[in-house]
Amino acid sequence: MRAEIEGIDEILRDRLLIMVNGQLAIDMLPYISARTGGMVLTGAAAPVRCREIRNALPETVVVIDHGSHTQQVATADAPFGLKTSYGWRELDLAGLNGILDGQRDNRASYAVTPTCFIPADQAGDMSVLKAVVRQANLLRRQDTVVLLPCSWRWLRRSSLPHLIEQIRACRHPVALIVQADGDPLERAEAPEGLRQLCRSCPRLVLWRTDLAAFDAMAHGAQGAAVGASAVLRHGVAPRPDNGGGGYKPFPVVLVRRLLRYHRVATLEDWFAHIDPWTCDCVVCKGAALTRFTDSEADVIAALQHTVCELYGLHDELDATLPGDERIGWWRQQLADAWEYHRLLASQTGTEVPFPKVLQAWHRASPPALPTAAEHRSQDQSGPS
Ligand SMILES: [Zn+2]
Repeated sequence: MRAEIEGIDEILRDRLLIMVNGQLAIDMLPYISARTGGMVLTGAAAPVRCREIRNALPETVVVIDHGSHTQQVATADAPFGLKTSYGWRELDLAGLNGILDGQRDNRASYAVTPTCFIPADQAGDMSVLKAVVRQANLLRRQDTVVLLPCSWRWLRRSSLPHLIEQIRACRHPVALIVQADGDPLERAEAPEGLRQLCRSCPRLVLWRTDLAAFDAMAHGAQGAAVGASAVLRHGVAPRPDNGGGGYKPFPVVLVRRLLRYHRVATLEDWFAHIDPWTCDCVVCKGAALTRFTDSEADVIAALQHTVCELYGLHDELDATLPGDERIGWWRQQLADAWEYHRLLASQTGTEVPFPKVLQAWHRASPPALPTAAEHRSQDQSGPS
């Protein structure tokens, strides 16, 4: 028997999930905050792992992303689907309900729609995006988040109002994945568009992302899911052979001072002639960030360090009030990161450019788009 959910928004609000392949979930689990964190599991092992973890730790939030968007492009006729051992299966409403029930039967804290990839808005044709929301709105359930795996092009000024309109029309909370080759927020108009989206849609969480989670939550996103490995830090174009997001066999660490992920090989270059930076998280315990080797154990330890640092940052965000105070905190993090980039450059005598995405986040924020109702009331308002 599935437990009913009381208020899915309460589960989502201000929560930072770690998105990880089911095979790595147990290694990350000790570093996941039960109160403010949780996990999104990907890959074939996700359902079994979800059940195991939730049986052992019922307080920990765990959900499943089937990754249909990494396999198949959505159409207006078939926006949802799933890869099965018998091949690709398109899902009608009954089939969709069955898959969502299956996630809950595996004790997922809430269900997540297996939405296929939503390509860029072609010349005003929003039929695919509309089909996702229209079908999801037919679901008679309160335990579901609708996944919208979208091309980054939806964040451009010309398309953004349509995306906002559809997310606002959705009866369920929405988890947005932004897809691009490489970092989607290095694309023109994307960082501003995402901020405006977060400000305009109160029931939006940002998924399969990186530190953009913090920029989004500072600007009103309800919550976020950060990928543990590089492939899980943004959406990917669908390919039939896409896996659930493995990890590359070289260590990558989040350097919190720089608000940036770096390969350990890069850190070794920087710190070849000066004392390397150390880390005080519970994994590193004051050790140098350059110590991780290519061994499997070290690659996992580097991931555990990164999870700890993400939750360290998230604890600070969580302590602020949503709105100006939270944005002020985030701006201070960015200002500090800029200083650390300068410091590192002067200490090492190398060039350490301030990344393009951090520059974009350092700029002032755009306002929310008014709702259609607000538009009307502005038009109609006059002396009473
Ligand atoms: Zn550490």
